[in-house]
Amino acid sequence: MIQLYVPLNYLGVIYREIKQSLADMERLFSLLDQHREVADGPDAQPLRLTGAEVRFSNVDFSYEKKRQILFGVDFTIPAGSTTAVVGHSGSGKSTLSRLLFRFYDVDAGTVTIDGQDLRDVTQTSLRRAIGIVPQDTVLFNDSIEYNIAYGRPGASHDEIVEAARAASIHDFITTLPDGYQTMVGERGLKLSGGEKQRVAIARALLKNPAILIFDEATSALDSKAEQAIQAQLKAIAKDRTTLVIAHRLSTIADAAQILVMDHGRIIERGTHAQLLAAGGAYAQMWQRQLASPDAVDVSAPTDAVG
Ligand code: ADP
Ligand code: MG
Repeated sequence: MIQLYVPLNYLGVIYREIKQSLADMERLFSLLDQHREVADGPDAQPLRLTGAEVRFSNVDFSYEKKRQILFGVDFTIPAGSTTAVVGHSGSGKSTLSRLLFRFYDVDAGTVTIDGQDLRDVTQTSLRRAIGIVPQDTVLFNDSIEYNIAYGRPGASHDEIVEAARAASIHDFITTLPDGYQTMVGERGLKLSGGEKQRVAIARALLKNPAILIFDEATSALDSKAEQAIQAQLKAIAKDRTTLVIAHRLSTIADAAQILVMDHGRIIERGTHAQLLAAGGAYAQMWQRQLASPDAVDVSAPTDAVG
């Protein structure tokens, strides 16, 4: 899984991580590899944010030539609102977030933010505008404070504590042997899936992005833990343009728009109430999840963003 919070221009930070461990090194090289697939054009301009409206217009995409993944995907997330994406594992949900972060370029169609094609803006400005809470948060072998500060290198201790409080992980941190200086990661304290996700939320809060992508955790959390996290997410999604990739439908019932994906196509869209009334794929998924709330769709191995 790739650590998404590394602003790619902070090479000092990257090299520091490379020295830390081979595991981190692999991750960072794969990040840099991925970075190589797209480059700033000669005329790339900084993204000018107004309301942060996100628009996918007729997007086709494939990772490999032979296998098309997205087919004519077309939707708009109005500025400051939440759109949720649901669908079976492998239907292309996380791919949408990778394209929005411009880890890859589309084969056809466009992805724009406030009318600016992602290919025309600098990657630094694009990535500054977007915060991602991924499915599987990678922690570096460093203090928990450092891990949270990844959201915004240079943040003060007070700002970090404030973000940790808002993400409901501050109280937990104060019970650790060395508090905020406790070492975490592969060679330090192992955090649970829920704790790691709160770290990711704290990072996102600290970054304070106009656009938020939340790829919901699956196996790491039971439905109760996910509900607790959901409350936090709702708070940070408020007034931000938010893309939620949902596995449990109960967590997205109040999204302004729900997209149902199937084999790389949007097959249904609407509000929860509209989709239930339509009695289609979404309504069936809802019935199934009501029957067994913990039986979530298992994610593909490539599921994390990136
Ligand atoms: P979802 O998030 O809905 O589970 P993804 O968007 O992760 O689905 O994946 C959509 C499809 O793209 C899947 O068939 C997956 O195997 C494939 N895929 C994902 N990442 C890659 C990749 N880096 N290279 C090739 N195929 C990929
Ligand atoms: Mg996914």
